[in-house]
Amino acid sequence: ALTERLSKAFDSLTGRGILSEKDVDAALREIRVALLEADVALPVVKDFVTKVRERAIGEDVIKAVAPGQQVVKIVHDALVDLLGGPGEPEGLSLEGEPPVAILMAGLQGSGKTTTAAKLARRIQKTEKKKVLLASLDTRRPAAMEQLQQMAAQAEAGFLPIVPGQTAVEIARRAMNAGRLQGYDVVILDTAGRTSIDEELMAEAKAISDVARPRETLLVADALTGQDAVETARRFNERLPLTGLVLTRMDGDGRGGAALSMRHVTGLPVKFVGVSEKVDGLDVFDASRMAGRILGRGDIVSLVERAAEDVDKEKAERLARKMAKGKFDLEDMADQFAQMQKMGGLAGIMGFLPGMNKAAQGQMAAAGLDDRMLKRQGAIISSMTREERRKPDLLKASRKRRIAAGAGVEVQDVNRLLKMHRQMADMMKKVGKKGPKGLMGGLTP
Ligand code: GDP
Ligand code: MG
Repeated sequence: ALTERLSKAFDSLTGRGILSEKDVDAALREIRVALLEADVALPVVKDFVTKVRERAIGEDVIKAVAPGQQVVKIVHDALVDLLGGPGEPEGLSLEGEPPVAILMAGLQGSGKTTTAAKLARRIQKTEKKKVLLASLDTRRPAAMEQLQQMAAQAEAGFLPIVPGQTAVEIARRAMNAGRLQGYDVVILDTAGRTSIDEELMAEAKAISDVARPRETLLVADALTGQDAVETARRFNERLPLTGLVLTRMDGDGRGGAALSMRHVTGLPVKFVGVSEKVDGLDVFDASRMAGRILGRGDIVSLVERAAEDVDKEKAERLARKMAKGKFDLEDMADQFAQMQKMGGLAGIMGFLPGMNKAAQGQMAAAGLDDRMLKRQGAIISSMTREERRKPDLLKASRKRRIAAGAGVEVQDVNRLLKMHRQMADMMKKVGKKGPKGLMGGLTP
């Protein structure tokens, strides 16, 4: 898996102030493989990696995470940007004199007909507009009936089938019917071939010239791999495309086609298909897609949280202390507080790539759980500042006072002190290798 390879690549790394070329290149080698595995087209991978490299080199290192993980985060952010940025994408543009046309384009089997019906339903529901669906697939009568059935499920209008008309004639008839019958939107579903050919393109262009669509959506199967670039480029050359729809996101595909097609056309992915049913259409979410393409949303969110929560100053002060072999109870309390912010031990363990069952068992046996974190925090806050800095001061009478203050037994205080000694030892070792905080130390 990507994270395992990454942690291997960074095992030998020592802590540094900024991400070096060597750090970044090691991580990017793995990222390149991950993107290719996600079916992102090769030229797009190359281009993307070059851009990210420039962005990553020289970044300040976040001490709480491994450099490889940080590169993953940078790659993730760059992916989100490229896919259209965080937040909702721009919706459909349906302004103008009605009826406004939407043209569906794409290869056969990409999901045009299904998506046409899904869009009709969505527009009627969310925009309260009347939608007419028209099938221009003159080559397969079954395709027309398929749209008729789906139109009924979507509770949208359907242009009656008239045998013998050409696609362009149907387009004209659809726009007229839309106008006469008071429809706001007319969705034109076109025929597709299994591969791009000139006849198909010429027909789509002629339909486009007649209907003058406000939106021309290129529909593509998320499982389209390396072909995505060629398909997108050819359609984009001939039609005034305005957006992309990626279908079958409910399947196993990692969605690399989204990146490839976006990269080639510069067009936003507006929707994704998530089932065969008429309500199976979601608004595109760039962050979710980026996580899926990288295949490692978990690492990304860990790094995100670390970047948010880690007080850089504190981390650096701690790092200096650790390097000198100093780790007092105040530092320990800071670490506990930080761990709790990151979702407690269970949260952190779920994120750490190397944290296997055995290691989890060991931690449980050692009494390392979230209740313990809270209790330890309470004990430490019952100490004076001096006691926290010099744990050696803690003899029997002081321990009794602290235990009473925290509402625990003296043996709990002893357990805490023992744990502190173990952590201080561990910190000393980690500190010599290059501190990454407690989390670095916890990774087996
Ligand atoms: P067209 O040839 O481009 O019109 O493609 P269709 O709309 O006929 O879709 C081809 C097949 O893909 C049909 O069996 C659809 O039910 C299925 N399909 C379309 N979109 C999705 C989707 O988002 N998820 C799933 N699972 N199936 C889909
Ligand atoms: Mg169809």
